[in-house]
Amino acid sequence: MSRNEHRPIYILIGPPGSGKGSLAQRCRHYDGIHTVSTGDLCRSHIYSQTEIGKEIDFSIKSGKLVCDETIVRMVHDWLDKNLWLTSGVILDGFPRSYAQAQELDRIFRQLQCPAYLRIVELKIQDEQVIRRLTGRRICGNTDCQAIYTYEDASLAPERHDVCDTCSSRLIQRSDDVYETVLRRLETYHHNVQDILSYYHHRTEFAGYIDADKPIDQVYTSFKQLVQR
Ligand code: AMP
Repeated sequence: MSRNEHRPIYILIGPPGSGKGSLAQRCRHYDGIHTVSTGDLCRSHIYSQTEIGKEIDFSIKSGKLVCDETIVRMVHDWLDKNLWLTSGVILDGFPRSYAQAQELDRIFRQLQCPAYLRIVELKIQDEQVIRRLTGRRICGNTDCQAIYTYEDASLAPERHDVCDTCSSRLIQRSDDVYETVLRRLETYHHNVQDILSYYHHRTEFAGYIDADKPIDQVYTSFKQLVQR
């Protein structure tokens, strides 16, 4: 793809545990679409003990959002450095507030991104999210961070608590414990209507998919929706 050709940036809006990361993994594997997960970027800072990592550690562990300024800077820097090298990107976990949605448009104007947005909402009931997240494991290797869940046979690892991709140990995220999951869901519901109202009337809004399905079906629905 040439530098100036416009490429899609997919925005996935859905609660934690709706499968945004797993869908992004599928799209990367089958379609070569790059993914940037703001959660992964945050966790990398924490593991590497950077200044930012020390600053955001508490917010993440307690299930609170990291401040807009820090997250917006991470997304800006990532897009500035990587967008030109990709044929499409999935933004996983951003924007998570009305202010972040506005900031994304500002980043686009500032970087003069050769890209267009496609926004997809993932719908799923809270009870299902709670079951999925408390059964979720991620690869402890920060360069991998593959996602598994024992709640969906198609997403379970082949060997118990061992990563299929790099054979590292799987771990439970500290914010995937029950009380923190409830707090993260509460934050999501508090912000989501504002974000949707920001995007709903725009032509870039592709529609929604039922995320309470096995990942292969979710992936198929996603492809059908964004190719319309
Ligand atoms: P995730 O991996 O998407 O579930 O994100 C894990 C945690 O990272 C969240 O609970 C927040 O503390 C932080 N985080 C990720 N993305 C954002 C964002 N867009 N805005 C604020 N905090 C975020």
